[in-house]
Amino acid sequence: MPVRGSCHCGNVQIELPEWPAWVADCNCSLCRRTAWRTAYYPPETVRITGETKAYIWGDRMIGIHHCPTCGCGTHWDTLGEDFGKMGVNARLLDGFDEAAIEVRKFDNRG
Ligand SMILES: [Zn+2]
Repeated sequence: MPVRGSCHCGNVQIELPEWPAWVADCNCSLCRRTAWRTAYYPPETVRITGETKAYIWGDRMIGIHHCPTCGCGTHWDTLGEDFGKMGVNARLLDGFDEAAIEVRKFDNRG
């Protein structure tokens, strides 16, 4: 059963094939500021509609998207190289409950 979500203003709509089994809590210089809880999916299984703006930094391998209206981080995707996955901010999913899902700490401090 598909899982849906949206940014705060509703401009960006997300549809995923199912709930993630776990989400990542990463401490890199960006995630520690934005507090994403990232779920990973093959890009072809994710549907995202609505305008987003990409933030590109560091090694320029991924674009980190947010809603330009309300500012919510929505997803990241590759800028070229095929990773076979993309990241979706699970905080935007309807009914997301951090206490009810496995949270894996990623140590990417630097
Ligand atoms: Zn929005």
